[in-house]
Amino acid sequence: MNYRARVDRLAAGLAGHEIDALLITDLTNVRYLTGYSGSNGAVVATPSGSVFLTDFRYLERVAPLREFIDVQQANQDLIRFVSTRWAELAPGAARVGFESAHLSYAAHALLAEASGDVELVGVSGAVEGLRIVKDDDEIEAIRRAAAILEPVYAQLVGEGLAGRTEFDVAWRVQELVREHGGDGIAFDSIVASGPAGALPHAEPRREPIAPGNLVTIDIGAVLDGYHSDCTRTFATGPVTDLLGEVYELVRKAQLAGLDAVRPGVTGKDADAVVRDIITEAGHGEHFQHGTGHGVGLQIHEDPRLSITYPATLEQGMVVTVEPGVYLPGVGGVRIEDLVVVTGDGCERLTGYPKELITAG
Ligand code: ZN
Ligand code: ZN
Repeated sequence: MNYRARVDRLAAGLAGHEIDALLITDLTNVRYLTGYSGSNGAVVATPSGSVFLTDFRYLERVAPLREFIDVQQANQDLIRFVSTRWAELAPGAARVGFESAHLSYAAHALLAEASGDVELVGVSGAVEGLRIVKDDDEIEAIRRAAAILEPVYAQLVGEGLAGRTEFDVAWRVQELVREHGGDGIAFDSIVASGPAGALPHAEPRREPIAPGNLVTIDIGAVLDGYHSDCTRTFATGPVTDLLGEVYELVRKAQLAGLDAVRPGVTGKDADAVVRDIITEAGHGEHFQHGTGHGVGLQIHEDPRLSITYPATLEQGMVVTVEPGVYLPGVGGVRIEDLVVVTGDGCERLTGYPKELITAG
């Protein structure tokens, strides 16, 4: 990962936010800029040189960061430490930005109290705006995290779903993700069968999965800090005509969504392509979440494919396409792929098949 380029890009963009320096305290953003994955670190970015701060517990492991950023030892209370040292950390800075979406009210009060004449300015999205388009190293990391999921599904299907509890299947996902090289699961797995499939974010129950049902399995892996995300819905034997039709509808909408994802399309328009198909089939009210979200160092990040996201997609963005239809009391279907936006469309990173597979 080219951390030096990231820190430089951030520093070069500070003038656009009308600030002389920026304090980054959000640990995901700190990780993006430096690769640091510990629990106490911050970056002070300035155009004339940036500083990474952590406490003694991490000093040894942050030695590699010295290649591209000035590393300084602080104490565990980083906010108090930086607020009294602006003159050294950001010489001459009059206006210093902080991450308004991430700094707590208490931390801001502490910062304001000790920062003296330095004017504090709330800034939002300075690092997130860089993270939204992935570089080649990041795409490769996400590709590897996504590739883990294909053998996981294949093994789950081979082992069968009917008769096991949702809870057991969720635990098995955790084991399989590790066995196939993941550092861990990207989020609590969703295994939702029968009527529970109508809850988009159901929690796995300690109840056996019944035959003749649909089971939605939404899983992800983390590898080197990068996430993957995929959903497949399986049958546990012959299902009702209604569930079979809904499955085909969601599959058709999902494929249309994959076709729509390309540079220049807005998140809103990509969502509409998918939503219109479901609405025309009479199930608009059964699809109330967005069509997709960005994935990277976080499982949910920008951009979004949704009614409320007017910005356009660009090459290098990584998004999910995940329509669902949820019939209260009956069941549900969701099919989700993770894709990277290419020069003229998108490339699927989650390759598991999408025709209705029966896992008895
Ligand atoms: Zn998912
Ligand atoms: Zn998702």
